[in-house]
Amino acid sequence: MRLDYVSIFPDFFSPLELSLPGKAAAKGLVDVHVHDLRGYTHDRHRTVDDTPYGGGAGMVMKPEPWGEAFDDLLAPTTTVVFTTPSGEPFDQRLAAELATREHLVFACGRYEGIDQRVVDHARERAEVREISLGDYVLNGGEVAALAITEAVVRLLPGFMGNAESLAEESHADGGLLEYPVYTKPPEWRGHEVPAVLRSGDHARVAAWRHEQAVRRTAERRPDLLTPSVLDDGTPIVRAT
Ligand code: SAM
Repeated sequence: MRLDYVSIFPDFFSPLELSLPGKAAAKGLVDVHVHDLRGYTHDRHRTVDDTPYGGGAGMVMKPEPWGEAFDDLLAPTTTVVFTTPSGEPFDQRLAAELATREHLVFACGRYEGIDQRVVDHARERAEVREISLGDYVLNGGEVAALAITEAVVRLLPGFMGNAESLAEESHADGGLLEYPVYTKPPEWRGHEVPAVLRSGDHARVAAWRHEQAVRRTAERRPDLLTPSVLDDGTPIVRAT
């Protein structure tokens, strides 16, 4: 998968060399390119913004530099991701969908956002997704692009050593939140690991984890508890 980022703060993307995306690049799963939007300007001040038509506070990102960046980067196989608080909410389903794409171009807004014609123009040339990280406003799209990248890259085939860990995670297949997890030592500062997890009884462990996942989801995200999620055939066993 090729990943391009267009931003007025290209240094924001240095974490891509670290951790999970860095590992994916080292494995040859992703090919990462970061572009400074100001590199597509031609005036002395490298201007990327101007006052909004219709008046109002703040500045709007000008279309011309974006157009030139897209001339360089867009192909028919490209998906352009505009990060915006008015986009479709990002979730695991959308991460899985983006993980099937060949080429993602992240367009990171600043100020009051990007001139709408940039989005309309990109739509004439490639697939466009306008994506929100959540119902709050960030200062720029870079953090959203990094979060989306991390969620997408870890779903690429060959990335995870053990693909099973993806299937059991929170939000996998729109399902339950993950159950609580524990490691050694068995007792720490007066808190014990639940006995069932040390029993060696795989069926009881699976049933306990399912019950915990249902309980946690009911407490924290009751909106996720659909009948199909609950009725997955796993018996519910109360912790003793
Ligand atoms: N005036 C815009 C509005 O009310 O929708 C907010 C602009 S915000 C200050 C600047 C940029 O940050 C946006 O263009 C977008 O790229 C990014 N951004 C802010 N919040 C975001 C969110 N929740 N999800 C994704 N991107 C976001």
